[in-house]
Amino acid sequence: MKPSATDRRRANPNPGTRVDIDTSHINRDALRVISGLHAAGFQAYLVGGGVRDLLLGFSPKDFNIATDAHPEDVRRQFENSRIIGRRFRIVHVYFSQGYVEVATFRAAGRAHVNEQGRILADNTYGSIEEDAFRRDFTVNALYYDPEAGQLLDLVEGRQDLGAKLLRVIGDPELRFREDPVRMLRAVRLAAKLGFGIEAQAKAAIGRLGYLLSEVPPARLFDEMLKLFHGGYAVQTFQALHDSGLFKYLLPLTEKALQDPSQKRFSDLVYGALQNTDERIRAGKPVTPSFLYAVFLWGPMQVLARQLELEGLSPRVAREAAMKDTILSQLRYTSIPKRLGFPIRDVWELQYRFYRKRGKQVFRLYRHPRFRAAYDFLCLRAGAGEPVDKLCEWWTVFQAAEPGMQKKMARSSGGKAGKTLYRPRSKTYH
Ligand code: ATP
Ligand code: MG
Repeated sequence: MKPSATDRRRANPNPGTRVDIDTSHINRDALRVISGLHAAGFQAYLVGGGVRDLLLGFSPKDFNIATDAHPEDVRRQFENSRIIGRRFRIVHVYFSQGYVEVATFRAAGRAHVNEQGRILADNTYGSIEEDAFRRDFTVNALYYDPEAGQLLDLVEGRQDLGAKLLRVIGDPELRFREDPVRMLRAVRLAAKLGFGIEAQAKAAIGRLGYLLSEVPPARLFDEMLKLFHGGYAVQTFQALHDSGLFKYLLPLTEKALQDPSQKRFSDLVYGALQNTDERIRAGKPVTPSFLYAVFLWGPMQVLARQLELEGLSPRVAREAAMKDTILSQLRYTSIPKRLGFPIRDVWELQYRFYRKRGKQVFRLYRHPRFRAAYDFLCLRAGAGEPVDKLCEWWTVFQAAEPGMQKKMARSSGGKAGKTLYRPRSKTYH
């Protein structure tokens, strides 16, 4: 006979301490999954960033559940659920508002590692203690049982939380070698939470950044989104620089930031990241292609200029530079195909904004990437690039009534488009 939920919890050797967490901040669906698992006689806890953020007073963006139930048990327990994942199998339990992720306690010690010590597969189930020790940082290894109101702290994470310290569980060098992405996670979480990174881990990051070059570009792309679309992009960018990790993610950007011909580039990047953070806070959408358009703008410009010096026409040089810059970045962080075109569109539109006459104005205005490209243009203006008048013109144009827009397109001193068959006059600049 299966032990009852209370038997199981009574048998738990780590009863934890009572903490006051307002359960209204916890996702209802996560609570439902936990009580379902408890009722079936399993252990189930909230764990990870959700618990950490709740204790810090942040509003968590996702809740993970850890349990001793195996994926098949969880699957059986909830009708609307699915087992996913290859590297390790987890269960998604679906609700009208999305899904809740449920993972079985795992042990890391028995994982397969490669010559560099990197984890290749770790699907071995384990005890809750083992599950805690395979996690990255002490503040990420707190387990909370919302039904009992108990917090389980097997790694002294609560103390570090109070001290605002990010401490690696175990030996930092070893843990970073196992999974180099943990270095990015350390920098990102420290920036987001306003925490310090313990000295030993900080030193290890200084030595081991190069290991990021062995991480599959697709995983680094996922991490890029977490780094720059998490609402703390400015602090994260600064922290990535200070830790020396930035160059392993965006080496072309790093180089352009140091290029004397790209003095305004750093301001563009900061301006764009600030803008991204504000948009996220306001609940507005953000896109990775915009982020890449910003980060790769400097490198693209440097390359275009170089190609022009080699004798290509400005237009051909630009086109080659756009293509080449995106291709080069792919080796570090993959860029899904569907994003490549929007990046180029945003760049190409920068040159079309100069044509403020005739039908082209309206064609440009209707372009699906007009808005993103316009935002980009005005960010460039804000960074001191000589496009402030252009940004102003397009700002006025958008706010104008259709009749006024037509008038603007007729009277503007912008370059005439080919469709108008107007000879270029000296007065057009
Ligand atoms: P965020 O606030 O960005 O969601 P998080 O800490 O919750 O931060 P997740 O990616 O949601 O990050 O992971 C959930 C939990 O899984 C972490 O808190 C940590 O316990 C564990 N974890 C995630 N990635 C790793 C890793 N690379 N190595 C070890 N443990 C990890
Ligand atoms: Mg999380």
